[in-house]
Amino acid sequence: MQAQYDVIIIGGGIGGLMAAYGLRMNQPGLRVAIAEKGRRVEQRKCPAAGGRSCVYCPVCSITSGFAGAGAFSDGKFNLGTAYGGTLGEELGERLAMEYIDRVSDVLDRFTPAGIHVKEYGSNEALKLKCLQNNLRLLDMNVKHLGTDNNLLIMENLIRWLEEQGVELLPDTEIRQVEAVPGGYRLRSGQGELEAGTLVIATGRNGAEFVGELCRQFGISMKSNAVDIGVRVEMKDAIWREFSSQIYEPKILCRTRTFEDRTRMFCFNQGGIVSAENNDGVITANGHSFADPARKTENCNFAILSSIHFTEPFNNPTEYAKSFSKMANLIGNGNVLVQRFGDLIRGRRTNDHRLGQNTVIPTLKATAGDLSLALPHRILTNIIETIYALDKVAPGTANDDTLLYGLESKYYSLKPDHDRDFRVCDGIYLIGDGSGICRGLSQSGAMGLYVADKIARP
Ligand SMILES: Cc1cc2nc3c(=O)[nH]c(=O)nc-3n(C[C@H](O)[C@H](O)[C@H](O)COP(=O)(O)OP(=O)(O)OC[C@H]3O[C@@H](n4cnc5c(N)ncnc54)[C@H](O)[C@@H]3O)c2cc1C
Repeated sequence: MQAQYDVIIIGGGIGGLMAAYGLRMNQPGLRVAIAEKGRRVEQRKCPAAGGRSCVYCPVCSITSGFAGAGAFSDGKFNLGTAYGGTLGEELGERLAMEYIDRVSDVLDRFTPAGIHVKEYGSNEALKLKCLQNNLRLLDMNVKHLGTDNNLLIMENLIRWLEEQGVELLPDTEIRQVEAVPGGYRLRSGQGELEAGTLVIATGRNGAEFVGELCRQFGISMKSNAVDIGVRVEMKDAIWREFSSQIYEPKILCRTRTFEDRTRMFCFNQGGIVSAENNDGVITANGHSFADPARKTENCNFAILSSIHFTEPFNNPTEYAKSFSKMANLIGNGNVLVQRFGDLIRGRRTNDHRLGQNTVIPTLKATAGDLSLALPHRILTNIIETIYALDKVAPGTANDDTLLYGLESKYYSLKPDHDRDFRVCDGIYLIGDGSGICRGLSQSGAMGLYVADKIARP
């Protein structure tokens, strides 16, 4: 197959979709295609849904496919720059906010009539409470779609793009990029494609692809941090003071022993803990649903410890993966779960103790011992953070609190780029894969921004 496009967007997550939307709005005549290694959004089904263990699909439907890694997420769009990336530093606060607000407007446009999307603001009293306990509450406006609405809105947006002539190419993993006169030739398992301009929006999932591209085109890359830790689950009531007033408590902690930075984030009220397959490594995550009927009596959040490596080490992602693999090894191919009380007493959790726990696990994970899979420094940071959080939400450090591991967030390597996020002539790099952002709003904002730069340079 030989095709000719003005722009090919590689990756159909929020970054790629917003780029396509922006291009369509700016220049309806452009020939635009989105090449996505996963499936069409309506065909994304996880065979392990409903509590079964991961069956290791060659392309994971949870993390890949149209609507990207965020397809089944909680759909929390942070309407600010305090976290979720460094777009504010890259573009300046005012411009970054302008694009983040535009993402919010696009979501509104594709929200079906009758669906009420909740927005949450900041809370001074809770901020003070955290401050008095040596914690920093990161507070920002949040638009919360919920998993089900998020998916509906993404489906509407994708349908509109297709109706407007954007070509959707599912099951098309781009493996090679080659410069040709006037543009680039792409190779996938499906054949060849050609385009004058490329927008690379491959997310964290595409780290290897971006790394290879940078090596091939001589683009230098800076190493980034990595966050490693656990997903924490407890009774919803324990964090209700926070969750009833702000949507998502995100709290920074400086740990006592090492003075490292940890963060509590990705809070899911009434949610479930989930397992996801990241290129064969099974890690923990969390979701919640807007539909009250699907709420559980638990809440969950991540506690991750940030590590910034210095020379000569330059492979933080592999470092994080190796510990997650270790947890999978001990967990017989699955995520580990441990009661906090067992962890601090230095013993593994077994099925018997888990069966008697007051917090009922929402993910079927392997009862075990996280201290065998986490380095001492990170484990100490996590334990100290749990005790620190217990001061603002008493009960967080209960024996029956469950820790699932591992969870990690990699920041992609950060390739050199110009102010328009161009890494070389005719190639733009956006979204999580750029190492600049790690969230839906900022990834989407980058998509809209480069669409403006391509259509109106
Ligand atoms: C479970 C979960 C919950 C989350 N919840 C939230 C949340 O509530 N709020 C928030 O702000 N963020 C959340 N995030 C993070 C958010 O999903 C990401 O920041 C966001 O999806 C990044 O968008 P992106 O377009 O850059 O990349 P992605 O969404 O990762 O999309 C990249 C796409 O590129 C495709 N791809 C990769 N390589 C290739 C290739 N070589 N060829 C073709 N296609 C390729 C992938 O299959 C993928 O579909 C969550 C993430 C997860 C996993």
